Amino acid sequence: MSQIILKDINFSYGNIHIFKNLNQKFAGPGLNIILGRSGSGKSTLLALIADLLKPESGTIEISPNAKPAVVLQSPLLLDYLTLEENVSISCALNGSQIENDEIHHIFKLLKIEDLLNRYPKEVSGGEMMRASIARALICKNEIIIMDEPTGQLDDKNSWEIYKILQKLAKDHLILLVTHDEKASYKIADNLFLLEHGTFKLLKSKAIAEQKEKRRDNTSSGLSFTQGLKITKKYLKTKKLRVILSVIFLAFALSLLYLGINLRLQFPDSIKSLMNQFYTYNTVEIYKEETITSSSSHLTLKRREALTENELKQLKIEESYPCLSYFLSEQREIYFHGKTSAIRILPCFEQSTAKLAKGHPIQEHDQIIVNKSFLEVFNLSFEDIQNDELFIDENKIIYLKELKSTDIYNKCFNFHIVGLAAEKELFNTPTIYYAYHKIYDELNKIYLPNISKEIGELITITDLFYITNNMSDDFRSQKTLINIADPIFFYQEIKEIENISINSKVIEAHEASDTIISSLTIILVIFLFLFLISALNLEFLAIYSLYDENIRLFALLALYKGSKKNKNILAICTLVLFFVQTFILSSILSMLSTVIINNLTNAFDYPHLLKFFDTISFLIVNMFSLAISFIASSLPLKRIKAEDVKKELEGEE
Ligand code: ADP
Ligand code: MG
Repeated sequence: MSQIILKDINFSYGNIHIFKNLNQKFAGPGLNIILGRSGSGKSTLLALIADLLKPESGTIEISPNAKPAVVLQSPLLLDYLTLEENVSISCALNGSQIENDEIHHIFKLLKIEDLLNRYPKEVSGGEMMRASIARALICKNEIIIMDEPTGQLDDKNSWEIYKILQKLAKDHLILLVTHDEKASYKIADNLFLLEHGTFKLLKSKAIAEQKEKRRDNTSSGLSFTQGLKITKKYLKTKKLRVILSVIFLAFALSLLYLGINLRLQFPDSIKSLMNQFYTYNTVEIYKEETITSSSSHLTLKRREALTENELKQLKIEESYPCLSYFLSEQREIYFHGKTSAIRILPCFEQSTAKLAKGHPIQEHDQIIVNKSFLEVFNLSFEDIQNDELFIDENKIIYLKELKSTDIYNKCFNFHIVGLAAEKELFNTPTIYYAYHKIYDELNKIYLPNISKEIGELITITDLFYITNNMSDDFRSQKTLINIADPIFFYQEIKEIENISINSKVIEAHEASDTIISSLTIILVIFLFLFLISALNLEFLAIYSLYDENIRLFALLALYKGSKKNKNILAICTLVLFFVQTFILSSILSMLSTVIINNLTNAFDYPHLLKFFDTISFLIVNMFSLAISFIASSLPLKRIKAEDVKKELEGEE
């Protein structure tokens, strides 16, 4: 190992004392840099080491026992020799022989291999300095001392030299005097300040290595509980922000919970809602044909009944031609001195009818009304039970193909026998009549004129079948079918082109679906806003602890597993945020479920939400975990090693 040991050195110029009992040791390899004010004695020191000056007393031990190579501020190149000759002459002066290859190698190392045959005047200052370093290297001294070699160079050239010195310092003991304080901190292995004739150590590779070693030897990292304690304490210092962010997050998550819960429970609750909404589920089915005029200004839609084959393909067992020609679905009804728009709907399932009062329809002239019906006429069921409701339908049957013009004026005289037990909310006033019975009744009515003309007995209902094969306007355009689960059927049939179905239940289902969809959109927007605010607050809470975190990280850097410790801190922040959010959002979700269910119940609706829905609960908490993870690990990750290092150096 090469070293320079100064023992009790005394030196003065006349009566100016430069060194008084100076003791200092430089051991290599390594880049030792000496800083100091001008006039502090740096050049004098190097001159003493280079044996250019003799100390008044004391000894300078240099091992290996050889004069160090010297590089000075001035390159001291001989103008009349090429760079190569300038370098080789130093060995000649020493009395040693040198190979050309070696010079080439060193010139290459210093990146001046192209300048071998140039004269000093033909190269730049930086290149001259490199040549002078080459001259120092050629003698293979293990020790090189340099007195401000970059003093006359610009920053760029200086850095080139420094880089070379760093490389050389791997197997040389370099003693460098410079004014460049900034660069010195970066490149020095050991950095000294010469002041009042003594050395002060500014930076030490040995101490850093020792620290590194110490860090490696400390096996214990930060424990999870310690991490939690630290995190808890520092989150506490920004209490308001943490609490706000948790509340925001919890609120957003409980919204999300409600949304998912609603989506999952919706089909069930809507089914039970529909069961309570309409007493009868009659479905109309028809083909729809779009006719577009050649100029495309006009688009017509024509409805047509399905053929028996088509019905069979759809697995529909029971079907009837629609009677709306005789009994229109919407009409004004004059009743108890008042006129109102009423829906007249056919029904099949008399036996399963949900009735609040009265009895199911048994005869063709019996009808059931609903509560909304009572409401529009301001009556109670008792007032109108067995009352008569007169419906007068004027229909013109004009059939060119059958060569006859009949005008039929069909009057229906109904008795009110029952009150449908359906929800009032959003329901329209409705009358239900027994489809079969009316159909059978119509079946008995003969059309004498037409029968005469075509020579056989024809009833009104026969016309449905006859006209099915004709292009006349009078025809059953729709088919009534009896389906147990219209919503399920609707979903099955939805994809089939041209075929449409119509049912109050499906209409209501579609309407509520639309409502839920728009609600979901609003919910999502809210959720998004809340989440952003929550994330923002959480980031703020964590970032506002930035300084404390850096200090904490600086501390951690002194111990083994600093990365592991960082992770533990991130995990602890995550755990704390997650647990708080989890508890709060669970409470909020449950609470709002109860509130919403109670609210809908007040409006005669079934429960819309499950009190505890596992799937939504899991999704929400995964979400919460992900947010906590991002919020707690990103800010910690953004603390840079340099910040920590600065903090460390600042504290030393
Ligand atoms: P540095 O290199 O740190 O600027 P020097 O070692 O060159 O300082 O000089 C140290 C002090 O000694 C300075 O005050 C300088 O004036 C003085 N000095 C240097 N050389 C001589 C000399 N030959 N005769 C008298 N004083 C000198
Ligand atoms: Mg000097």
